[in-house]
Amino acid sequence: MLFKLGFGKLLLKDRYGERILVYHGIDAVGETKYNSRFISKAFFEEFIKHITTHYNVISLDDFYQKKFKKDTLNIALTFDDGYLNNYTYAVPILEKYNVPACFYITTIHDKAPYLWADFLDLVSYHTDKKEIIFERNLYQKSAKKEFVWNGISMKNVAKALPYEVLEMIYDVFKDDWKNLSPKDFEEYWKLMNAKQIKEIANHPLFTIGAHGETHASLVDIPLEEAKKEILHSKETLEIICQQPMTEFAFPFGYYNQELADYCEEIGFERLLLVDYNIKEDAKNDTWKNRFVMNPYISLEQQLAYLLKGSYF
Ligand SMILES: [Zn+2]
Repeated sequence: MLFKLGFGKLLLKDRYGERILVYHGIDAVGETKYNSRFISKAFFEEFIKHITTHYNVISLDDFYQKKFKKDTLNIALTFDDGYLNNYTYAVPILEKYNVPACFYITTIHDKAPYLWADFLDLVSYHTDKKEIIFERNLYQKSAKKEFVWNGISMKNVAKALPYEVLEMIYDVFKDDWKNLSPKDFEEYWKLMNAKQIKEIANHPLFTIGAHGETHASLVDIPLEEAKKEILHSKETLEIICQQPMTEFAFPFGYYNQELADYCEEIGFERLLLVDYNIKEDAKNDTWKNRFVMNPYISLEQQLAYLLKGSYF
């Protein structure tokens, strides 16, 4: 047993390499009942404190220029979606520990005040409805408080829908949204406004990148629509930030060659993914995979998986 423990520790100590982390929301308590996107500010700070003490935490600029230290883990931080809670909770902690980060913003603001996934998570959890009909299909509320049809969750259906169809979900749950008093749940849906985005863009530690307009899965919607999403998020953020946008994070990390080519054609120099579609994609210097942070595990477990570079 002792041998085993000692050996495990030794293995961990010897691990090194490079990782780009991806966070979504930071909240007060680390709520996991709606989804897996929110990590508590206390856990976040504990983690930041740990990695800044024991590893080499660098900017994405340095990461892309491969300014790595040998024999340690080189870590860059990113945040997807553009939640207000990033501004409220994460930014002060990052400033305290002098940690650079990139924020990838979904530019849905003209269409809706929230991202559809957060809307759907909150209403699905809180509604008394047991079933609903959407696009002629009967969805039933599951034990996990998701609406499911034929074994497929509404969230999975929604991410591949054209936005004008997806918008109809807002209508189905209009009253449920009102009844849950959305103001009480702002941590789980509210997005940064233009002023806050610009403030981050001007901050010496931080950069802003694009993340699509409606958070659709770009590989599943028609190509022309996907291109519009990418271009819209770039142009909108350039107006807000008064800077060129050169980084794009694919929603859900889903990408293909055609979309990546388009991104590069319109001026994106860095494309952030989650997993590479195929191993060879790692050889492309523009594309980087990222490690998604997990709200369900302890600091020790998170570090062990991070060092390993995978949850499997
Ligand atoms: Zn996202």
